[in-house]
Amino acid sequence: MLLVSACLLGVNCKYNGKNNLNSKVVELGSKETLIPVCPEQLGGCPTPRVPSEILDGDGADVLDGKSRVMTKNGEDVTEHFIKGAQEVLNIARTMGVKKAILKARSPSCGFCSIYDGTFSGKTKKGNGVTSELLIRNGISVLSEEDI
Ligand code: SF4
Repeated sequence: MLLVSACLLGVNCKYNGKNNLNSKVVELGSKETLIPVCPEQLGGCPTPRVPSEILDGDGADVLDGKSRVMTKNGEDVTEHFIKGAQEVLNIARTMGVKKAILKARSPSCGFCSIYDGTFSGKTKKGNGVTSELLIRNGISVLSEEDI
């Protein structure tokens, strides 16, 4: 079983109401059971929504209370992102899932690289909030660009 960012499977859960359908990820479904999750929706964010990025840090800093997740309009959505990460972890534990394929560079789902907080498309090192929480709890994470 694999947890997968729902947008990679064609679910229209992106901030702009669209998806990131990825045929390589969909093909994994012929060999594995895929469990689609969208942490931002699970955390109570609407769709469509104003895009968000992590300011001055990464998902680890957010979980440690050292950094915040802000929308492009300056609204603090940190609690939604943390709640969504916890819900994804709950699903992983309930289902006994040990691996996840998550969307590259997202402030929730990004693995090793995330948008840098300037809403310019530039990136910085670090994990998104959900990726970081999963890794801290023994679940291995890859992005769709790693498969
Ligand atoms: Fe996709 Fe993750 Fe963003 Fe949801 S939070 S739209 S699953 S990248």
